Parts: sequence; C-alpha cells; structure tokens
Amino acid sequence: MNLVLYGAPGSGKGTQANMLRDHFGIPHIATGDMLRAEIQAGTPLGQKAQPILAAGHYVSDDIMIGMIRNRLRRPDCEPGFIMDGFPRTVPQAEALDLLMGELEKRFDRVIYLKVDVDELLHRLSGRLVCPTCQRTYPPATAACAADGSELVQREDDKPEAVKPRIEIYLEKTVPVLDHYRGGGLVSEIDGRGTIDEISLQILTAVNGSATPTRRTA
Ligand code: ADP
Repeated sequence: MNLVLYGAPGSGKGTQANMLRDHFGIPHIATGDMLRAEIQAGTPLGQKAQPILAAGHYVSDDIMIGMIRNRLRRPDCEPGFIMDGFPRTVPQAEALDLLMGELEKRFDRVIYLKVDVDELLHRLSGRLVCPTCQRTYPPATAACAADGSELVQREDDKPEAVKPRIEIYLEKTVPVLDHYRGGGLVSEIDGRGTIDEISLQILTAVNGSATPTRRTA
C-alpha cells in the first residue's frame, strides 16, 4: 500500500499518517520530521535547513529529492509507505514519478485533506507539539496524552512563520494536486470533523470498507 497524504500545513496530515501507519503497519515518511531530526542532530544538512524551516520557507528540491531517493530504497518500504510532506512542488512530484518507476512501484492513492485557509491559520497559531512523538495539540494543553512529555511550540508555528508557510503552500504545493488529479488518484476528504470521522473516511477511500481499528499484531 503506497500512499501520499496531501494537505496544507495544519490540515491534520501527521495525525492521520500515524493512524495509517498503525493500521497498515507501514512506515510513515514525513520529510518535516526528517529535517527536524537533522537539525536536532546538528548535521551539515540540519544546519543548512534550520533557518529555512524557521522562516517557513521550503528546502531546495535537490536536497529533498535526494533525501527521498535514499529513504524509499530502504527495505522497510518494501510492503508500502505513507508519504507526508513530499512531494511539495511540481519538480518533486516529477522526480518522485521517476523514482517510483525505477523502483517498480506505483501509488495506490493520494489522500487530499481539505481544510480552508482561515481554519488552517487558526489551527497553526498556538499549536503545541510533543517533542517525543510529534503528536500535535491545541494551545494550553499541559502534556502529551500518549507519553506525558512536556509540549513545545514548533519554531515554524510562531505567528511570523505561519503566514509565509500558507502562502508558499498555495503557490508551490497546490499545483501538485493537479499533477495527481490527471491520473485519477486523488481522494478528497473533508479535513473538518473529529479525528475518528476523518480516519474512517480515509480508510474507506483507501480500501473500500475498512474500519479504523488498530493493528494488534
Ligand atoms: P507542515 O506541513 O505542517 O508545514 P512539515 O513538518 O511537513 O510541516 O514541514 C516543515 C517544514 O519542513 C516545511 O515548512 C519546509 O520548510 C520543510 N519541508 C518539509 N518537506 C519539504 C519538502 N518536500 N520540500 C521542501 N521543504 C520541505
């Protein structure tokens, strides 16, 4: 099962990607998390990426494509994977098509989580995140419900970075959807509603009649 989760910052991709990872037992490939891990580790790439992320801008296509080429070749991707945060530009989508061809894989579905811009701005400003498991929470939440960690604000959820992120998304990432619409791969899901309601709609789009139960094995 090879999936792309597509949506604006704040659309709920990360939350639903975690659900899909648990449900299908396939890796969640989140380019934002990969970049933040590089920053945390202080690698040369992390040092280069840090000010770019803090400003809400995009890291270069070359870097991101290289990162994904390495990641998709790893054996844990063999049974499938969930892409979250990539492709974010049309050149990235074109490079991914080539790579998928080389790997003799294809996407089963592109899930588009649709949320309007006012709601995105509202969700992102003040959002808190767990530094351990990356789950997100509304403002003023005390601790992570999953692991008890103290929550932090992501640097790019600060007000000065939220607006550029949405603007860049509208300019560079919205055209990616048209790239996939042509292939009839896109399922549009209303990103409002409860997490469970949205999960159910996603699973129904992915495999017809699934229920959002967690894998136990
Ligand atoms: P969100 O979707 O909420 O903005 P992410 O965690 O997916 O958050 O990404 C955080 C940041 O990482 C982006 O704002 C951007 O700077 C960088 N980034 C992640 N994926 C890509 C990508 N495919 N291309 C360019 N930059 C990326």
